[in-house]
Amino acid sequence: MDTFGFIAGEIKHFLDLTTPIQLQLVALSFLLVLEIMYFHRRRLPILSTRTFIGILIFSLVFIIADTSVIPVSKLQLPRNWGIRLASQLRLYAYLNLSLCQYLYITFLQGRRQHINIKDGLRIFTIYGFGVISIISVNFLTKNEQQGFFAYDVINLINNIISLFYASMTLIESRIFYKKNPDSFFRGKRRYIYWTLAVWIIIVVIQIIQSRTTISSIGVAAMCFLIYMGLETPGNYIDHDTEAMNSTALRLFLQDYISHKKVFFILNIDIEDYESIEEQFGENIATALISKVSEFALKSFTFPVFHVAPNSITLIVPNNKRLEHNFYIDVILKRLKERLEQAWFVGENSFYLSSHCDFIVYPDDLNKEISIHEFMSLINEWHFYSKDLGFVRQANPELVKNRKRHNKIVKLVREAIDTDGIEMYYQPIYEVQSKKFTNFEALVRLKDNKTYGYISPEEFIPLAEKHGLIMRLSDRIFNQVFDFVASNKIADKGISHIEVNLSGLQSVDAALPEQMTQLLRKYELNPNIVNLEITESIAITSSFMLKKNMDELKKIGCTFSMDDFGTGYSNLSQMAKIDYELIKIDKSLLWPCFDKNNPVQENAKIILDNMITMILSLGKKIVVEGVETKEQLDYLEKMGVTYIQGFYFSKPLPAADYLKFLEEKN
Ligand code: C2E
Ligand code: MG
Ligand code: MG
Repeated sequence: MDTFGFIAGEIKHFLDLTTPIQLQLVALSFLLVLEIMYFHRRRLPILSTRTFIGILIFSLVFIIADTSVIPVSKLQLPRNWGIRLASQLRLYAYLNLSLCQYLYITFLQGRRQHINIKDGLRIFTIYGFGVISIISVNFLTKNEQQGFFAYDVINLINNIISLFYASMTLIESRIFYKKNPDSFFRGKRRYIYWTLAVWIIIVVIQIIQSRTTISSIGVAAMCFLIYMGLETPGNYIDHDTEAMNSTALRLFLQDYISHKKVFFILNIDIEDYESIEEQFGENIATALISKVSEFALKSFTFPVFHVAPNSITLIVPNNKRLEHNFYIDVILKRLKERLEQAWFVGENSFYLSSHCDFIVYPDDLNKEISIHEFMSLINEWHFYSKDLGFVRQANPELVKNRKRHNKIVKLVREAIDTDGIEMYYQPIYEVQSKKFTNFEALVRLKDNKTYGYISPEEFIPLAEKHGLIMRLSDRIFNQVFDFVASNKIADKGISHIEVNLSGLQSVDAALPEQMTQLLRKYELNPNIVNLEITESIAITSSFMLKKNMDELKKIGCTFSMDDFGTGYSNLSQMAKIDYELIKIDKSLLWPCFDKNNPVQENAKIILDNMITMILSLGKKIVVEGVETKEQLDYLEKMGVTYIQGFYFSKPLPAADYLKFLEEKN
């Protein structure tokens, strides 16, 4: 009973003592918890984060000083230095806090990464004014009465300064978001405005009621708001891998680029991620990527990011501009060694096939690259290096082509929307009947301003990569079928029209339906349609290819294997898939007639045997790229079915092609 009474007494005593500063103590405990939580986790080593740390430190000093003013005043120290120290510390922390908040929001929005002289004058003159006012208080406090008065005045001055910083932040943010509606931190705007609101409310209350005790609570609340909305480590950390996420990467790039830092971006690409995900499920695939991330986090001190599901990205600062290869080589070697070993997840062990792409900034890029461009570049590594093998450095040529690529993609989009593509038709000669019984439809895209004609070989792959190929092919087929139907081409001695399918298109599940509808729309006999397939890396599923071909064959279409002899269009494909027609590529033909070719005879043997073989399989042959009489005669003798090439005609616009047919057939 006695002890209980004693404790109760002590608590009452403590409460009595702390009554005037209870609010401050609450704020102090609250801020301490928040700071422990914050400093416990990994942070981004970038400017805005550093400024936030400034906010946390000055807030803490402010609250400690604010809390200690009253207890210290009871100490009766000579010349009141205790209370003077606490009050001035409080004012000084408050001034710095205001400045840090202003800078923090500025840096975070990426509005400004350097303070130029003009801005510096504005920002720091007022700051200097605050400092002088705080120092001057020492000369104004002769006795207690004057002292309190002087502090009230200096308090007021500093609150006005704080209000100035707050309004400047508000105005600049408004202007910034108006001018940059798509700015990256747009989504976080409301937190910025809330923080500003709390800030302004505290200042206004302090101006009206200078001896208020709520400022500590206000400051703690502001820190809490920024922490929750903008600086929670969780905002930047990817939960699966403990690496940083794409938001963090953007902030990094923003920070590094504007400070003209030199760095490498290195991307570890796990090539079989998707197939692992398909076979073993998402959990295992994610666990594997986490292991790779964990390895990177443990092995290196530089920032590690998880932006795309199948890769881990590292930013390697190169402040000393060390010899590129030497520096990066060490890192790459380390990665390669580890990636060649097994990874264990649960009971499974995996050997991953992987490679590392890297870009040297700014050497490999143009310096004016925007963050947005940079981010999309990181998501499209495969565009930028041509090397194979483990290490793949971005090819500056390809990166520079990016601009052209983007422009072309834009043109393709426009052409689709406005039906701006044009189809050309190249006559194909049938050897036996000596007539032009077939033609190949070839798409043309023209940019009237910069690029002129753009080759389909360039824009078709881009249309594929940007998901435009089905809409583009819809335009292509519509134009071709319309041309065929409205000119009654079948009555002009044409037995086959040949239209190209891109790799991606030929495995698209929507293809048979698209084709059926189009044929119905133009009332065409499907037997007239021959689809050319170029075997390519885009044909990831030979199952889908076969399925599509079977369905289309059922309705009467036929198929050619295009570009035989190049890339993937080879014998093994012919052994698996049934084509009616084989188109031999010019790269098999031309070497046979090239006098400078030291192995011209070999080329002829290869061509002859290919032709004989294909014919004996009962398939028809088109030879492409026939440009001379000599080539024509030779091929006729070899018994090929069709000839296509500039010798007869280049691809022609619709009207010219019709004229050609009239004259020749
Ligand atoms: P491809 O299907 O092999 O088309 C034959 C290409 O060879 C055409 O180039 C044609 O103009 C060219 N050519 C024909 N005869 C000769 C010749 O005697 N000498 C020379 N030097 N060239 C000749 P083009 O029109 O630039 O098309 C290139 C490739 O773009 C095509 O190769 C095809 O893979 C693709 N492509 C063209 N149009 C389309 C289309 O509508 N859809 C799809 N998916 N791809 C297309
Ligand atoms: Mg073709
Ligand atoms: Mg071809």
